Order: sequence, then C-alpha cells, then structure tokens
Amino acid sequence: MAKIDDFNSGDNAGTGVYQVTQFHDNKRRGERCSSALGYLIPNLDRPNLTVLTGAKAHKILFEGKRAVGVRFAQNGKLQEVQASKEVVLSGGAFASPHLLQLSGVGRPEDIQQYGIDMVHELPGVGQNLQDHLDFILAYKSKDKDVLGLGAAGTVKMAKEIASYRKDGSGMIASPLAESGSFFKTSEEVDRPDVQTHFVISIVDNHARKLHMGYGYSCHVCVLRPHSRGQVFLQSADPEAAPGIDPKFLSDERDLQTMVRGAQKLRATLNSPAMDKYRHKELFMEGEVSDEEMAEHIRQRADTVYHPVGTCKMGVDDMAVVDPQLRVHGLQNLRVADASIIPNLVSGNTNAPSIMIGEKLSDMLKQSQGAA
Ligand SMILES: Cc1cc2nc3c(=O)[nH]c(=O)nc-3n(C[C@H](O)[C@H](O)[C@H](O)COP(=O)(O)OP(=O)(O)OC[C@H]3O[C@@H](n4cnc5c(N)ncnc54)[C@H](O)[C@@H]3O)c2cc1C
Repeated sequence: MAKIDDFNSGDNAGTGVYQVTQFHDNKRRGERCSSALGYLIPNLDRPNLTVLTGAKAHKILFEGKRAVGVRFAQNGKLQEVQASKEVVLSGGAFASPHLLQLSGVGRPEDIQQYGIDMVHELPGVGQNLQDHLDFILAYKSKDKDVLGLGAAGTVKMAKEIASYRKDGSGMIASPLAESGSFFKTSEEVDRPDVQTHFVISIVDNHARKLHMGYGYSCHVCVLRPHSRGQVFLQSADPEAAPGIDPKFLSDERDLQTMVRGAQKLRATLNSPAMDKYRHKELFMEGEVSDEEMAEHIRQRADTVYHPVGTCKMGVDDMAVVDPQLRVHGLQNLRVADASIIPNLVSGNTNAPSIMIGEKLSDMLKQSQGAA
C-alpha cells in the first residue's frame, strides 16, 4: 500500500498519518481545536455577536411561511429572539431535522400525531440518514508504548502528563486515531471504499469497556454506505430526544463491503510485520470465514460518529435545502451543518462541516450585500 504524506492531495489510496484540527501554537499546543475554539472564542468581543450558552432551541417561530425567530429555553426559562434577517439552524444531523419537525416542518405523518400544527410539508426532513458503519479489530500488545491500563505505564504516564503540561507534547497530545488508510476492497470499485483508523489503545464498545494491559485497535469503516436511516419525533416535548434509526446493514451491500474490508485489514494486522507488536488478538482468533466475519460485524459494528444527510441539499423532491442552503418552500430559514450533506463523504466529516459553515457565511455576506 502506498505511503501517503497528504491525504488531501488528490488520490487518497494508501496509508499515512492523519491531518487533524489541533493547535500548534505555543499557548495551546497539542489541544484539539473545535470550531468553537477556532471561530467563536477569538471573536466574542464583536458587537454583532451574542453567544448564549446552556440555551436549547425549542421551536422556530413562523409568520406564515417566513421564519421570524426562535423560541429557546435557558436556565429553565422560555425566551424568544426575533430574527432581523434570517434564522440559520446548525444543530447537526440529529438536532436540525428534529427542530424542524418540532416546528411543524417535515412529513405530516411524523408530526401531526404529536399534536404539532403543520407549517410546511417537506418529505425529506429526517430522512436519508447516512453514517459510516464502523468495525474494530483489537489486539493486546507486547509494546507498552501505547495508552493502556497497568502498573508498567503509570510512571511513563506521569512523565507524559508533565510533558503535555509543559509544552503540549508527548502521548497525551495524540489524537488517538493517529493514522490510517484508504483502500479498495475489490477490483470492481474505482476508488477506495473503506477507511481505517489506527488507535494507540484498545477500543471496545466505544471505550466504555476497559481492558487491563496495553494494546492497539484498528477501525474499518464503509465509506459510501447504501443503507439509509431516519431521525423522527418521539414526543412534542423539545427536551425529549428524537428517535434515531441508522438502519445500519439494511442494505446487504454494506455488509459485503465491510466483510471484505475487515478481512483485508485483519490480514495486515496479523502479518509478520506486526509480530513484534502483536501479543493477542481480542474478539476472534485463527481462521475466520466470511460468514463468521459477517456475524462478528452484525454483533459489534457501530457508528464512527459521522451522521449526515437528514436535511439534504438538492433540487429533488426529497431535498430539504437548496444549493444556497435555504429550506425549500420557506423564507428566511437556512440549515448549515452536516445534515445538508446529500451523500456521505469518503472520509471524516468534521472538516467538511466546517467548510459548510464557511461557505454559508460567504453566501450570507453575498446575499446581504456585506463586504
Ligand atoms: C465522539 C465523536 C468523535 C468524532 N471524531 C471525529 C474526528 O476525529 N474527525 C472528524 O472529522 N469528525 C469527527 N466526528 C464528527 C464531527 O464531530 C461531526 O461531523 C461534526 O461535528 C458535525 O458538525 P455539525 O455542525 O453538523 O454538528 P455538531 O458539531 O454536532 O454541532 C451541533 C451543535 O448544535 C448544538 N445543538 C443541538 N441541538 C440544539 C438545540 N436544540 N439548541 C441549541 N443548540 C443545539 C449542539 O450542542 C452542538 O454544539 C466525531 C463526532 C463524535 C460525536
């Protein structure tokens, strides 16, 4: 497999170290840079910005088909803000469609049963949910130069913490999923259809289940899944969570891709090149047939946290927003977050989501005549 120095240079087929959103300056070196830290915090003193924390949007306020504000709860108190120009939703792939549904925008059959008045029928709201189905292979390691639980690493970890506190360097600054690869699981596809993330720790059930000792894991995810799920109301109470059904593996092709991807990844991790690191494989051992691998996948595969598509951008009947991210059929309302991505990107979703915010700010400035 080719070694890749820059996964964003064009052809991503190969393996390498990931580029991540992490601070490199002296003040916060090693710390992960969220979009709040990157965009909001440095601009808090702008006169045209007010940030309310601990506030939860409950409803978009409409006059006819025009969005005019938002009702929200803060510290147990309901409040309203009026929009002088537009309302922009950016609650993410679960919360943006949920807020539209709570506000009477979506499929009547999803909304009216909760006693919510319809404002606008839009069949795509909450539909088309896509996520990267992810499966993990994990190993106990002979090498203790990874993150783990055990006496041997305690002294080392104390040093690592000191080093991180001093200048943001060392293992604590690791993004954990440090490296990975993109590869084709079959010659029938024209570009990589799976991605891997190599993690310097044992990951079991999203790291909810801890293992004593030291080890490493490798995720494999299906880049362009065919399965489609949905986000739906379960209550008219805005504080209640929406229903989320990713419908993983509802399309058999995703299972086949994952089986091929997991088998190829496992062959690499069990190859002689890894002998000096590998102590014991967790979850499976010996020869594993495709049928057995499929059963492992059904039992353990899960999300790698890349949901998109539930307010998809487009011009077809199932599109929720148009190419300027305006909600179809309504005025003064846009959505700008991962929910507008019509088809899941073949890679991680954080940078594309930030790009969507950047693009929307350009479009807003353009449409409102600002510099
Ligand atoms: C555990 C985890 C790890 C991840 N790791 C990576 C990674 O390593 N690399 C990568 O590329 N991607 C990663 N992702 C995915 C990435 O974080 C998302 O793709 C990205 O954040 C999506 O951006 P967004 O703006 O659509 O939604 P979000 O980032 O989820 O932002 C939505 C915001 O809206 C707020 N909100 C929601 N509902 C309401 C409401 N009713 N009222 C007010 N505010 C509300 C939320 O609190 C949140 O702050 C990870 C995701 C998770 C969950």
